[in-house]
Amino acid sequence: MKAAVLTAVDNIIYTAAPDPVLQKGDLLLRVKAATVCGTDIRILRGRKTAGIRYPSIIGHEFAGEVVDAGGHSQFKVGQSVAVCPAFACGHCDLCKAGAENLCSNLVAMGYEIDGAFAEYVRIPTQGVASGNVFAVPERTPPELIALAEPLACVINGQEQVNIKPGDTVVVLGAGPIGILHVKLAKLAGAARVIVSQRSALRRDAALAAGADMVIDPVAEDTVERVKLETGGHGADVAICAIGVLSLANDAIRMVRPRGRVNLFAGFVPGAMAELDVNAIHYKELAVTGAFGLTRAQYKRALDLITSGQIELSSMLTHRFPLHDIAKAVSAAESGAAIKVAITAA
Ligand SMILES: [Zn+2]
Ligand SMILES: [Zn+2]
Repeated sequence: MKAAVLTAVDNIIYTAAPDPVLQKGDLLLRVKAATVCGTDIRILRGRKTAGIRYPSIIGHEFAGEVVDAGGHSQFKVGQSVAVCPAFACGHCDLCKAGAENLCSNLVAMGYEIDGAFAEYVRIPTQGVASGNVFAVPERTPPELIALAEPLACVINGQEQVNIKPGDTVVVLGAGPIGILHVKLAKLAGAARVIVSQRSALRRDAALAAGADMVIDPVAEDTVERVKLETGGHGADVAICAIGVLSLANDAIRMVRPRGRVNLFAGFVPGAMAELDVNAIHYKELAVTGAFGLTRAQYKRALDLITSGQIELSSMLTHRFPLHDIAKAVSAAESGAAIKVAITAA
């Protein structure tokens, strides 16, 4: 088959790759669409290395069509499916506690297991047995199905801050993840979603996604502006959707007493930040992180997409066939795109 193979840091090439070798019970899918994640870029540039192999095939946001059902009677050849790419063991303490995204034995497609920047992708029987493969309606465009993965991660982040109707929510950063946070916060009933973002293009995208107000942090102080907009009280919730260290402190300073802060985006390995710890202490803030997704969150994301409750097609600003992987990566990296889809040739 043809695939975009990651051979080394900074090197991903469209080339002939061995066809996936199926073991008993494995599912084989033809990839119908995949989307490029910020994590894919971090892997390519060597900023994320945990679980990464060379050569390997990355890409964990995708939709496919069953080519070999592996003997599983619930799937049939030609059927459209979506795959929650993180496989939890189901028996460790964290899995038992419902935190399967933090499973001690977690393996994921696009990392430990070859992913979807390819013509075909193998879904190990473990992923089928654990219920990570979902049938999806034919009518939903596969590129929207691919977005269930990042949306599920965003659902995980927002579950940590429990957005309630009437809340004022600040989203720091309006890349694809920030845009998803805006859409989901509005869906949760947030009265006001304020977005801080340097790029004018992305501020416009945030407004188009439903943000009520945007702030240019170069032109004005985001913390002061949020205070001003909330009558001096501060926002109910702040979400860091970009891994810039100083923003963690901004988030803590811009929320009200008993406010909730979610550090959604990852930071560079080993990063240390200066935090206004007294703001956390005196305001009794709840500061949380977010990592990955659970099957339940993935299922919820799929339901929101296939039912049309959340509109995501406007986020897909660029599309490339697999052989244009280099162009797809540079579009995702340049900041010109919100979300880049790789379509089946
Ligand atoms: Zn992703
Ligand atoms: Zn586990």
